[in-house]
Amino acid sequence: MEVIRHNKPYLGAEEGQAVARVLATGWIDEGPVALELEKALASYLGGGGALMLSSGTAALFLSLKVMGVGAGDQVILPTYVCSALLNAVYMSGAEPVLVDVLESDFNLDPVRVAASCTGKTKAIVAPHIFGFPADLRSLTSLGIPVIEDAAQALGAKYAGKPVGSWGACSVFSFYATKVITGGQGGMLFSSQQDLIERARDYREFDCRESYYPRFNFKMTDIQAALVRCQFSRLQDFADRRRQISERYRAVLAGRVRFQEEGPEADPLFYRFVIRTGSRESRDRLKGYLSAEGIETIVPIERHELLHRYLDQNPEGFPVSEQIVDETLSLPIYPALQNEEISRVCSALEGAFL
Ligand SMILES: *Cc1c(COP(=O)(O)O)cnc(C)c1O
Repeated sequence: MEVIRHNKPYLGAEEGQAVARVLATGWIDEGPVALELEKALASYLGGGGALMLSSGTAALFLSLKVMGVGAGDQVILPTYVCSALLNAVYMSGAEPVLVDVLESDFNLDPVRVAASCTGKTKAIVAPHIFGFPADLRSLTSLGIPVIEDAAQALGAKYAGKPVGSWGACSVFSFYATKVITGGQGGMLFSSQQDLIERARDYREFDCRESYYPRFNFKMTDIQAALVRCQFSRLQDFADRRRQISERYRAVLAGRVRFQEEGPEADPLFYRFVIRTGSRESRDRLKGYLSAEGIETIVPIERHELLHRYLDQNPEGFPVSEQIVDETLSLPIYPALQNEEISRVCSALEGAFL
């Protein structure tokens, strides 16, 4: 029995051809392909500027840098998220302020965010976790610049507009497991061109007339060719992910709880995360599916919660503490074959008999 992996990139013949074309030009560093990709993605996000980077983490760090966030400032971020955000905030020199999430969509709780703002708060980093858009209307109305972390959410919309186009700026990732990929890679987007120009300046470290510490955060044209090819498939990818999510929902309705989108949110089904009600039932289901050759993951484990890393009192983060125990992520990606989807569905039926 072949194991169904939890994640796998979709890479077709066109991706290979796109990379081969770059190799044939002899220009494999950042170049014309990355510039074209910036234009295409900025246009998708409604105009403004985009900058291709080496990773989503680099994009987060640069977003803080060009917004002037540093030592003495505070940055709000959720505790229920990967450590890349915390790393970027520390790299900027600012102090991270962790906030709990909503039980419905696992995104930043705007009421708790408002209560955590101080005179030192310079930015709010708002991820769209598992592709589900955060409450952007509330978060962007607090008078503090919002950095949207759309690393898992390219293709999702909020009130009819793509996520990533709402905040002061936004970041994307093209890591191997993300919605579209170049192996590694990231992007910073903003409708404020001056922010993007400052970020571009920071990245162009070589042969400058005047010096300040800059850094090499470039993407290569080899990666850009891959990402551009994948970007042309975005709508197909999004449709396919939705289809798979509907198959799973049909089997699981009434048996588990789902991540619920907010009123104006139109998710990109980056992850299919269910809540089983308890750690025991979650671990039992994980074991059952594993025996059926289906790989699942616990998307965020208790010890990975950022307040646990920082040794802060768990009582301040009751929702995150609760959901880490119950959540399980099922395989959902465009490379998943029809018969594999059916195998997952049958196994889920069997698990709940
Ligand atoms: C993957 C991810 C990042 C980091 O992106 P990298 O390209 O891996 O550095 C940041 N935030 C979120 C929400 C992510 O999923």
